[in-house]
Amino acid sequence: MRYKQFNNKVFIRIDKGEELVESLKTICRTLDIKLGSIIGIGATDRVTVGLMNTKTKKYQSKEFMGDHEITSLVGNISRMNGEVYLHLHVTFCNVKQKALGGHLYSAVISATFEGFIEIIDGQILREYDQTLGLNLLQL
Ligand code: FE
Repeated sequence: MRYKQFNNKVFIRIDKGEELVESLKTICRTLDIKLGSIIGIGATDRVTVGLMNTKTKKYQSKEFMGDHEITSLVGNISRMNGEVYLHLHVTFCNVKQKALGGHLYSAVISATFEGFIEIIDGQILREYDQTLGLNLLQL
């Protein structure tokens, strides 16, 4: 993975075979980013996404193999328990141009990924909310 920072903006390239979520976390740790937003596009051949079951308060995850375009990755960067916390959602298309998506757990890049982080000068923490079963932003 490579990146280039221009003041509070970072351009990112993640390469074939690299895992997207871990690569983004590594960049956030290296640059000590506490708060920000992420967008990106690319391609993956192994992606795992989840869907929150609001009754059981558990995520149901599913893996998709084969060539998919990452048509849109959107998310935010915050901190929880001193660690970088990424909340990422993704939409990806298969060979029939059918769009799938969900809460992103992992994606192995199959060609390239081009991302963009905007750093916000501030800090927002997350805390677990028992009612929802989610790590909520503490605003
Ligand atoms: Fe989510």
